[in-house]
Amino acid sequence: MLCANALASGHLDFELFEAGPELGGVWVQGLAGPLTKNTHQNSPVSLQGVPGRPMASHGYMFPHWSHAARYIRDLAASLPSDSKVFLNTRVVSAEPLPSGWSLATSRGREQYDSIIVATGLNNTPKQAPSEFASFTGEMLHVAGYRDPSQLMGKRVLIVGGARPSTFDTAFDAAACAALTVISSRSPMLVLPTCWNGRPIEELQEELEPAELERVLAEMRSAAVALNKAWRLPQFVSTMEEAKKAFGSASDLFPALVRDGRVQVRGGVRAVRGREVLFADGSAAEFDVIVLCIGYAPNVGVMPPPWRTLTASSDLYLGIFDPLRDDLCFVGYLYGAATSHWRLFHEQARAVAFFLASRAGNPQRFASLVARKRQGTRSLPLAKHVSIVNKRGYFALLHEWQAGPCAR
Ligand SMILES: Cc1cc2nc3c(=O)[nH]c(=O)nc-3n(C[C@H](O)[C@H](O)[C@H](O)COP(=O)(O)OP(=O)(O)OC[C@H]3O[C@@H](n4cnc5c(N)ncnc54)[C@H](O)[C@@H]3O)c2cc1C
Repeated sequence: MLCANALASGHLDFELFEAGPELGGVWVQGLAGPLTKNTHQNSPVSLQGVPGRPMASHGYMFPHWSHAARYIRDLAASLPSDSKVFLNTRVVSAEPLPSGWSLATSRGREQYDSIIVATGLNNTPKQAPSEFASFTGEMLHVAGYRDPSQLMGKRVLIVGGARPSTFDTAFDAAACAALTVISSRSPMLVLPTCWNGRPIEELQEELEPAELERVLAEMRSAAVALNKAWRLPQFVSTMEEAKKAFGSASDLFPALVRDGRVQVRGGVRAVRGREVLFADGSAAEFDVIVLCIGYAPNVGVMPPPWRTLTASSDLYLGIFDPLRDDLCFVGYLYGAATSHWRLFHEQARAVAFFLASRAGNPQRFASLVARKRQGTRSLPLAKHVSIVNKRGYFALLHEWQAGPCAR
């Protein structure tokens, strides 16, 4: 949708295929997609909207998903009315031609000069690790978890480290399950959602790198101190552990652990029937396992080698195929500050700039391609292959667009 907006602004001709009945992805799919009744956004409302279109707060800092759905529907309504949007139309396969692509959709087969793949990074659940195959209770990926009735009165194991989905599921389970245990392979770093009254994400976007590092060091140190005071099992207990850990923010989760309403254990070593054996040698029986193990990029319509791509290592600026000039990917990198739509917005603008150059500015296009052909360049990653430091990433995107001969 953001690509369509950027292409329309550049007067570029496009067709948009959406498999579902409306535009807006996971947020408008709601309970039919990976969200639960209680999902709230984990990015603050102040940063969630795309530039020029702030999201109304209605008094919330981290709004409910229905709030995001309303915003996205308004955004969809702002697409030019003559946009060629085909709903309920799935792309089945994409085949590269010497120049351009042949797409098979549920409407038939058509050729295009270029394609933009934007089928999502958060809608294809990762497969359960093999050690869980012998579990005889109920096992589900968190994408299939809808509401607390699925956990009520049951012994629940939530597998995943410090992630928003782990915390969200634990809050529900702590209120209604007979037992709630979290398995985390590495020590958990749980940061507060705000620092001196400001959401972490705002600081991540605003502060210069050195100042941000100083604030993050203070936050890690606070997490270590909290653990010292509360003795939380499997939480970071040294600054070295805290530096290595990929943390998530929650103000409530540590207190649930302190009060014994949620237990945290190490990684899962083996599963036998209903019994799960943990790395520390302890064991317990469970009725339900909820896997909060993340998602794989949804690029199944693409042929190899793109089907197994990693945006940060295989694509130029996480968007462009280094060799083909007719293939772009949008939405396969996320920002360390979790308001991802702003990052997608910048990616969509870069794609529109590239395609507009191709259509009408050969000198600028040649310059953009020349630098793209030099291959992938290292991105400012934030401890995870698909998560970038937004400030640094935006600087690279803008530098590429403004480079020599690019005007
Ligand atoms: C529980 C949860 C919480 C989240 N919280 C936040 C948050 O607080 N802030 C934030 O910014 N992000 C958050 N995210 C990330 C979220 O994924 C992004 O915000 C955003 O929705 C991703 O948009 P997208 O368009 O790239 O992908 P999606 O929303 O997944 O949309 C992809 C679209 O492509 C369509 N599609 C897929 N395959 C095909 C095909 N073959 N043919 C045609 N159409 C196809 C799908 O139907 C879908 O509409 C969260 C995600 C989850 C799951």
